[in-house]
Amino acid sequence: MIPAQAEPGLFHKWVIYMRRRLRICRIFIAWSVLAATIILAAIFLSGNIAVVTSGSSSGNISAGCRDSDNVLTGMAGRFILKALAAEARTVVIDPGHQLRGDSSKESVAPGSSETKARVTGGTTGVYTGVPEYQLNLDVSLLLQAELQSRGYNVIMCRTSNDVNISNSERAMIANNAAADAFVRIHANGSEDPGVNGIMTICQTASNPYNGALFDRSYSLSSMILEHAAAATGAAKQGVWQTDTMSGINWAQVPVTIVEMGYMSNKDEDIRMSDPAYRQLMAWGIANGIDAYFGTEVSSASPVPAPMPEQNVPVRASGDGFLKKKANIRLKRDVLAEIA
Ligand SMILES: [Zn+2]
Repeated sequence: MIPAQAEPGLFHKWVIYMRRRLRICRIFIAWSVLAATIILAAIFLSGNIAVVTSGSSSGNISAGCRDSDNVLTGMAGRFILKALAAEARTVVIDPGHQLRGDSSKESVAPGSSETKARVTGGTTGVYTGVPEYQLNLDVSLLLQAELQSRGYNVIMCRTSNDVNISNSERAMIANNAAADAFVRIHANGSEDPGVNGIMTICQTASNPYNGALFDRSYSLSSMILEHAAAATGAAKQGVWQTDTMSGINWAQVPVTIVEMGYMSNKDEDIRMSDPAYRQLMAWGIANGIDAYFGTEVSSASPVPAPMPEQNVPVRASGDGFLKKKANIRLKRDVLAEIA
């Protein structure tokens, strides 16, 4: 005789009920994952995000500011970029100045009534005649390649000279990208032709707009100064703390200006026009960025020590040229930016 089966108890009923719910949950999660995968694949195929797989096993995401604006301004776009970037750091590089300055005004800081020129044309090599905006772009492109080869995500504020992007707009590119570091590449000028060396610039600790970022900006500035000087053999002028720079005041991420050297100093102007020296400069700046993030710094120099005086032709020479140049009233590049 088969004993009558006992009615399941209340607890048993609850267990059966929960098992069913769990099964439904699993099916729901599986379909959600499938749908998310299809959406991400569609975004890739539509070409909104360019993934450069060369140079790093982890992959780099590279976008010019025009393209990146479309993606990075949206919360969803930023989230997707960050998710795809995984552990990689994002560095925004601003090659200072542009072909033509724009003297129309913009606020020197968010909400400030004080204004200054949107962007200036920069200084010029007194001996080589190289415009600063060109030097800045050339070194920035080398730095971009160097950082990408080390696995960083790099976003360029500009990749050509004929643009019109103000200092605050450049900072907003870094803010919208939620950059881990915003590195602005410049070269200096002085009325004293003897002045030379590398200077980096950040805000003060009491900057009302981003003083909370002072520690990180100062660390970034110090590391880049140390390593760029070590790589190139240039003198160190130190870290200048100032709240007069629009492109720094508008930044809501760690920021530095790298003044690579003085275009008003004959030796430094000539050195900075040397491709080997520029490569060393980019390598040194990248080492400084690595050091800032606590990454092991590369010890293998990419090029032999430069011999600029022998390798680099001076565009023009002779008394006439030098006298003409001597009549040009030079301003420190940083002061020109303030004006
Ligand atoms: Zn400059």
